[in-house]
Order: sequence, then structure tokens, then C-alpha cells
Amino acid sequence: MATLVFLLLLLGGAMALAMREAPLWLWSVLAAAAAFVWQSSLLHGGFHVPSPSGLQWLGWLPAVALAVLSVPGIRRSLVVEPAFRMVKGILPKVSDTEQQALDAGTVGFDAELFSGRPDWGKLRAVPGIVLTAEEQAFLDGPTEDLCRLIDDWHVRHNRKEIPAEIWDFVKTHGFLGMLISKEHGGLGFSAQAQSLILGKVASRSPDVVTIVMVPNSLGPGELIEKYGTEEQKHHFLPRLAKGLEVPCFSLTGPTSGSDAATMRDIGQVVRGTWNGAETLGIKLSWDKRYITLGPNATLVGLAFRLFDPDNLLGRGEDIGITVALIPSDHPGVNIGRRHLPSGAAFPNGPNWGTDVFIPMDMIIGGEKMVGQGWRMLMECLAAGRAISLPSSSTSGAKAMLRFTTAYSRIRKQFGLPVGRMEGIEEAITRMVETAYVNEAARAATAAMVSRGEKPSVISALMKYQTTERLRRSINDAMDIHGGRAICDGPSNYLQSAYQMIPVGITVEGANILTRTLITFAQGALRSHPYLYKEVQAVQNPDTRAGLAAFEQAFCGHIAFSASNVAGAFFHNITGGLFASAPENANLTAEWYRQLWRASRNFALVADLTVALLGGGLKTKQKITGRMADALSELYMTACVLKRYEDDGKPAGDRHIVELAARNGLHRFQEAIGGAIDNFPVAWARVAMRVLVFPLGRPYKPASDNLGAQVARLAMEPGDVRDRLTRHIFVSHDVNDATGLLEVTLKKVIASEEAEKKLERAIRLGTVRRYHGIDWIGDAVKAGAITEAEGKLLREVEELTARVIAVDHFSPDEVRPHYMTPGHNARQASAAE
Ligand SMILES: Cc1cc2nc3c(=O)[nH]c(=O)nc-3n(C[C@H](O)[C@H](O)[C@H](O)COP(=O)(O)OP(=O)(O)OC[C@H]3O[C@@H](n4cnc5c(N)ncnc54)[C@H](O)[C@@H]3O)c2cc1C
Repeated sequence: MATLVFLLLLLGGAMALAMREAPLWLWSVLAAAAAFVWQSSLLHGGFHVPSPSGLQWLGWLPAVALAVLSVPGIRRSLVVEPAFRMVKGILPKVSDTEQQALDAGTVGFDAELFSGRPDWGKLRAVPGIVLTAEEQAFLDGPTEDLCRLIDDWHVRHNRKEIPAEIWDFVKTHGFLGMLISKEHGGLGFSAQAQSLILGKVASRSPDVVTIVMVPNSLGPGELIEKYGTEEQKHHFLPRLAKGLEVPCFSLTGPTSGSDAATMRDIGQVVRGTWNGAETLGIKLSWDKRYITLGPNATLVGLAFRLFDPDNLLGRGEDIGITVALIPSDHPGVNIGRRHLPSGAAFPNGPNWGTDVFIPMDMIIGGEKMVGQGWRMLMECLAAGRAISLPSSSTSGAKAMLRFTTAYSRIRKQFGLPVGRMEGIEEAITRMVETAYVNEAARAATAAMVSRGEKPSVISALMKYQTTERLRRSINDAMDIHGGRAICDGPSNYLQSAYQMIPVGITVEGANILTRTLITFAQGALRSHPYLYKEVQAVQNPDTRAGLAAFEQAFCGHIAFSASNVAGAFFHNITGGLFASAPENANLTAEWYRQLWRASRNFALVADLTVALLGGGLKTKQKITGRMADALSELYMTACVLKRYEDDGKPAGDRHIVELAARNGLHRFQEAIGGAIDNFPVAWARVAMRVLVFPLGRPYKPASDNLGAQVARLAMEPGDVRDRLTRHIFVSHDVNDATGLLEVTLKKVIASEEAEKKLERAIRLGTVRRYHGIDWIGDAVKAGAITEAEGKLLREVEELTARVIAVDHFSPDEVRPHYMTPGHNARQASAAE
């Protein structure tokens, strides 16, 4: 018994030291105390001062070894220097372009999650949704007006392009220059405002939001604003802001998609003639495709690799990726015809050129910025990726929910609104969760960007998570609408999202790559508290300085790893009871604690994954993908708690928060459990199972009852439904397909009592409901319902018939007339 107590105390002491990242000398003291107690007969009720002999000396070895290692000089030569050499060999190799990507963004709350001890104060310090009066007025004024102007069917089917009146509207009101500063003629809106404006437009038309999003995302406007010369800023920015120039940005080519840095588009520094004078410039050959706004662009932003074979710039031959801004009517620039991406109407197409001469001042930022292109792109991408697709995917999820909850209450089968059937309810519950979680994470992330962060890891996870979750919501919406959603036409309000979601999944880093490579594999390097410091230290050409930096990072890393082992195990066996929750969290304190505990587990597994997979991290994508999912769940669930607080903890949202927290933690557990179960190193697999799941897997998904409560809340017009779908465009116009839903929903609810009476009369056989019979009139005559109830039911029947109707067309109306069979852009151009 005494031995057991001794061992437990020893384990407790070691865990306490590890969790507090205690210095080595304290460990040495603990080891010495343990040896002393063990050999002093204290455990057997007696006491004598130990006088070790023979093998007994071995008991003192750990204490002596730890004491010796506490001496910096000895520690350095015995441990740090060999580790320095070894780590050089196993750390993931970082290419130049990866290095620039790593250096580009900022680290924020993601680092808190990687640390295993998130500081909730930092999350709470991120502002909620704050807009200036001017931004709010723009959201309520021109943005609403634009939404009312959009006829989705007309855009994506009748015209198959963005109508001139919409281009004129967005140009005149400055939509294309939201990120351009006021000083340069733009609106100078915050990231939060841009995100909300884009979201509202997206809820009306994925095509129209694309033409607004692209000039406000990674591209000429942002690149010139940040890196342009003064002349470029003064000339181009006011023109871009007013829409006098339409920009596109060309990075992707036929052979360089995800691996864009391997582009074969090249420029050579040469002397040439420009405006009648000999000048230094670049001879360019390129071939790009998939370029959004390309067919309409007046300015082509172009990324290419620059070489200087004659060393005219004095910087050697391979200068690196460079970005130029070339007028689309510049001699030799070919703007191809249009691609047809997923039936979309926004302009998208190829462009190319061979031996096109451009003067140096067409380089963004001028000659001094040659070779800086990749860094410029990565810096802008880190922020832009956090705004554009998360905004549209969030509003898409909210719109899907708003339309589908209305429809599922209006549409009846088997005598019931389909939304009352459990199968449908289950899908609606998923949609509620997505709408709430996407918005929570969107708002927090946009607020981070608004205050100057460029969150590279968070933006990556937001991109793939919000688009994937929207894809699931769209599928749920389609399933719930049945045939009504499949038959396309002006009354179909789901098809544009269904057709366009693959675009969101693919652009700005296709999702599979973003999940498996960028979020965790690169994210771990960036957000881990020590790894990046170690990488930088071993890559430091000054070995002395590198070794010193490495020692500091390495010793910190060892203490961090030990702390993860002890911390994760401790919080897992105590069920997160002692984990950290912020003050005044009240009802959500438990979720904060569980997230903290989960973050401890994430830090442990992430640390071991990085340490043991090393350079293999990029190829072990089934592991890194799951780790990316685990990180995403931590981040997005934390944002859910933040949103609930920022919204003033509305009572109606409590169940939604609980559902999102339970499901988020469960998905976290499945993701991290999957990574552990499939971990390629056997001993680590066993160790991680013991440390992370010592008492089995603790989290269960939200119960069916909780799901049912949440789905019912979303189907009821009122505060909860409005909050769930806030910031999207909501029509109340009965002649608009979505406005018709809103109007009908209210009438359906108002007529529920009358409907019940009518149904009873039908069941009793008092009236019969078949085509050709006026059953409402018969019910009134039979006294089953009143005149007023009959009037209301007639109105509801007429509205419902319109809601459930699908469009039909003559063959001439639907035959495509814009395509010439057997042609593609290149052939057509060659023929011309
Ligand atoms: C409608 C549309 C608009 C676009 N607009 C623009 C634009 O304006 N400007 C521009 O420059 N580009 C644009 N793009 C290009 C877009 O960014 C690319 O399509 C995207 O980068 C993916 O390249 P890819 O299509 O060639 O796919 P590929 O690179 O061929 O990838 C195929 C699949 O492999 C996966 N994959 C690739 N590498 C890895 C890896 N290492 N690990 C794991 N998975 C991997 C990808 O995730 C993807 O699922 C647009 C594309 C579309 C479809």
C-alpha cells in the first residue's frame, strides 16, 4: 500500500512538474527525493539515512543525470548539439516558395490552439461585428438595392452573362473598390464590412458576387494598393475603384494548377522599344486559363517567372516570380473566349501571349519588386482567403436554411408538413448547425482581419471548412425540396448554389490540397510554439547563432512536449474538470473546459505527429487531413462560444450552441481518434491512445431530441430564425421566388387551426378533396370552417400551389444558342 502511495505521489509530482514546464534542476530534486524515500525505509515504517552500495546507486542515477544536464555547457554538448545535427536531417524540407508562404501570414488564435492552453481572453478580445455608420448605410442601401436588381434566372440562363445594368450599378456605387483606400478613390471598407456586403450579394446570386469579390480579393487592386509605385497608385486605383478598369488576375495555367509556383510562364529581361524609345523591359510568353473576369478585363494581372540571362538588372539569372499589370489591349495580349464553369454566368476564360514586350514600369511596384511576386501573392492570399469564400459560403448556408425551413413547413405530404418528419428534421438540424457555426467563424475571422491580422492557417481552414459545410447544406436543401429543386427555371432558388459550389471548392486552393497540405502540414510549422523557431535555427547560415537559437527553442520544445503528455493525461482522467474556462462563462463554461481539454490533446498529437513524421508530413495526408479537421473543429467551436457571448447570450440560441458544441467535440474526437488509430509509428499509436483516451472516447454527438428542438426553432418565424439567417437578403415580394416563400410561410402558420378543421372534415368524409371539387367551399357550407377561415385557406392554397410549382419550357426556349459545336478558344483565335 505504502509503495502504491509512493508511486502515485511520484507520478503526481512528475505530472505537476511537467505541466508547469519546470526547469531540469527541479526534476533532479524530485528524482533525488524519490531515491531518498525509497532507500530510507520510510516506506516500511522506519527511517535511516541511505548509504547506497552496489546496484542501489542506480536509484540515484536519474537525479544525478538530471542535475548534470541542468548545467548549460554540458547540456549543450551532450544533448543540444547532437539534436541540432539530427533535427537538420529530419525536419521537413522547406522550399523557397513554401518559405515565402510561411513567412507571409500572421499567427493568431491558431497558435493558442496549437499551444494546448488557449488563452480565452485573446479570443474574447477579438471584436464582435462592428461597422461604421457609412458601412452600415452601404449594407442597408446600395447592397439591398443591388440584391433587388438581380434576377438570378435572367443572369445565369437568359443572358448567361452579367447584365450591363448590374455592371453599371456595381461600378457606379463603388462595389469594385471596397478594399481600395479612400485616399485613392475607393470605399476603404473594413474586412468585416466587405465580408457582410459580399455575403448579402452572394445570398442573391453567386454569379454577381463573383464579379464584386474578385476585384476586392487577391488581384491588381490589392497588389497595387500594397506594393504599387506612387504613379501606379495614383493612376490605377481611382480607375479601378470607379470600375473604369476591370481587373483580372492570372496565375493558373494548364500545367500549373494547385502547384502554381511551377508555372512555365516566363519573362526575360531585354532591351526593347516602347513608345518609340529603346527601353529596358521584359519579353513575356505565357498561357493561363480559368481566369475570372478575364474575358471582360481591361487590365491583366499576370504572374510569371522572370529570368535575366544577360544580368541586365545585376541580380543574377533566376530572379523569381514577378507580377505585372498589362492592359488587355497591349500588343500581343490574347484574351480568349469564355469557359463555362458549372453553368455560371460570370466571365471566366483563358489568356496567353508569346514574346510580348512590356516596359519595366508595368511590373507592380516597378523594377524593385521583380522576384517578389510569390511573397506578394501569399501575403494578400492569407487575408483575402479569410474573407471572400467564407463570406459567400456562410451566406449560402444561411440562405439554404431560410428557404428550406420555409419550404419544409409549407410542403405537405402524408398530411403533414415534410419538416415535421424526422428524416427531414435530421437534415434541417444539420443545416441549422452549419448556418450558425459558419457565421460564428466568419464573423470572428473577419474581425481578426479587420484589425490587421493575415491569418494564414485560419484562413485556410475557413476556406475549406465553410465551403465543405455549405456543400452539405446545399445537398440537404436539394434533398428536402425533392423534384422542386431539380427542375430548373426562374422559380428555382437552389440551382445556382448547387451548380456553383464546385467553384468555391476549387478556387483559392482546391479543398483537398487546402485540407491535407496547407492547414496542418504547413500550419503546424507556422503555429506550433517551437517548431518554426527550430526550423529557422537549423537553417541559419550562421551556425553559432543558429545553435544558440536552437538550444532555446529545443529546450522549450522538450518542456512543452512533457507538459502535453502530463496535461493531456491529467485533463482526460479528470474529465476536463480542472481545465480553463473564462470568467462569467456560466452556461458555456463546460464547453470552454472541454475545448481546453481537447486543445491539450490536439497539442500532444500534433507535436508527436510533427516530431515523428518530420519530412513525411507532406505525404501522410490521411493523418494531416484528420489533424486539419481536428484543428478546424477546435477553432470553429470556440467561435461558436464567442458568437453566443457577442450576441448577448440569447436564450433562444442556447440549444443551438449546445448542439454545435457537442457535435464539434464529437467530430474533433473522431478526427483525432482516426489520426491516432492510423498513426504509422506503433509505439506512438499505443502511447497516444493511452494518453488521449485513457477512459475511452468521451464525446457523443448531440441527441435526436436536441436536434429536434433546434430544427423546430428554425422552422418558426421569429428571432431565432432571423438571427440564424441574419445579413442575407430577404425578399418579401410575392413575385420573387424567395419572397413568395416568406409570404406563404406566414399565411401557412396563420391558417394552421383552420387547416386542422378542414383536415378533420375530410377525414370524417364531410367534404371530399379531389380535382374539380371546391372542397373549401363545401367545408364552409358544411359549417366545418368559417367564411373567414375559408378565405384564408383559399389564399394559402393559391400561394402554396405557386411555391410548389416548377417551370416548364418549349424546346426553343431552352436550346442553347450561344455555342458553336467543335470549337474551342484557341482554335477560334487561330482561325481569326
Ligand atoms: C471557375 C474558376 C475560376 C478560377 N479563377 C481563377 C482566377 O481568377 N485566377 C487564377 O489564377 N486561377 C483561377 N482559377 C484556378 C484555380 O485556382 C485552380 O483551379 C485551382 O488552383 C486548382 O488547380 P487545378 O484546377 O488545375 O487542379 P489540380 O491542381 O489539377 O488539382 C487536382 C486535385 O488534386 C488535388 N491536389 C493537387 N495537389 C495536391 C497535393 N499536393 N496534395 C493533395 N491534393 C492535391 C487538388 O486539391 C485537386 O483536388 C479558377 C478556377 C476555376 C474553376
